[in-house]
Parts: sequence; structure tokens; C-alpha cells
Amino acid sequence: MKIICIGRNYRAHAEELGNKIPERPLIFMKPPSALLVGNKPLYYPDFTSALHFECELVIKICKNGKHIDEKFAHRYYTEVSVGIDFTARDLQNQLKAKGHPWEIAKGFDGSAVLGKFVQLDEKQRKSGIQFSLLKNGEVVQLGDTNNLIFSIDYLISYVSTFFKLQIGDYIFTGTPEGVGPVEVGDQLVGRIGGEELFFCNIK
Ligand code: MN
Repeated sequence: MKIICIGRNYRAHAEELGNKIPERPLIFMKPPSALLVGNKPLYYPDFTSALHFECELVIKICKNGKHIDEKFAHRYYTEVSVGIDFTARDLQNQLKAKGHPWEIAKGFDGSAVLGKFVQLDEKQRKSGIQFSLLKNGEVVQLGDTNNLIFSIDYLISYVSTFFKLQIGDYIFTGTPEGVGPVEVGDQLVGRIGGEELFFCNIK
């Protein structure tokens, strides 16, 4: 199982961090040990003082494939959820400035929160998926897959030209604007529509 993540896939988020809009999807990965499931808490890591949430729509790959044509990509996922791409923003900024890989800022233990998966219906495939993140009861991020720079089907096709997609792989499709820091004691809740799919306490 691999966790593939897409960076800068919403215009307003790329702009809020002062990044250019990419011409091709920006891809990175997290190791399986980054997964945090079952509503477990995240213990604030001691190597950062700027732990940020990025709420993202996540798809689960249900079929093996390589060089997947975009027009068949919809066959490769039937379930979606929301998750958090936790980021040690201070470390990431230092690494970015040096042009270094940013794995330690993005792939640390517990950095990939995943909610319960739900079946995607035809209506959502056509009209898009709306998701949100609440921090201590207040909505801090609102996402809509209609606003993706690179669509889910395009991402599947593009990613599969480099990495064989395998059953059980996850793709974090990028975060909308509104990312921000968390503190010990915060509670995060991720939703698709009105359905709560995960909660995560920061300890
Ligand atoms: Mn992200």
C-alpha cells in the first residue's frame, strides 16, 4: 500500500502559500507508517512548532493498473473519504528553501489521517464532492472537487504513468485554502457533505 499525495491542486491554496500554479500535478508520498486511522489522537511532534492541517479528499484505489487512460480512470475508485495531510510547516519551509526533499515534514508518523470510506454515488461523480474540516466546532476549510486544478481522473492517469496503482493505495488529492496551525487540545472533524468521517484530537 502506498499513500500518494498531490500538492497545490487548488488555486486559492497555492496562492495562500505564495506558490505558483503548477503545470503538472506535484506528487509526493507518505510511508504506510504515516497512517492514522480509527479516530486516534495525534501527539504533537517535538521536531516542529508549526504543525498545520490540510484537509483533503482521499480516494481508495480498487483495481490494479498502469498507464491508465483518463477516460477509464473512474473504474479505479469507488470509495472516497477525507483525511488530513499533516505538515510540519516550519520544517517544510526550511527544506523547500534548500531545494531538499520534504519527506520528514510530510511523512512522519501519524501525518496521514484517514476517515471512514464511503461509496461514491453517480450524482457525486457528476456534480462533484463537497467536504469540510471543523476545528473545535468551527468550519476552517471547505473543499469542492469542482475546484480541483487537476481532476481525480486526470490524477489517476498521470500518477499511473510513473507508479503502478495497486488495490488499497490512497491518493490525497490536495487541500483547498484555509490551512492553518493546530495546538495541543484542538479537535478536528472531517466531513463529506454533512457526514462526519473522522475526528482527531491533538494531544
Ligand atoms: Mn497537502
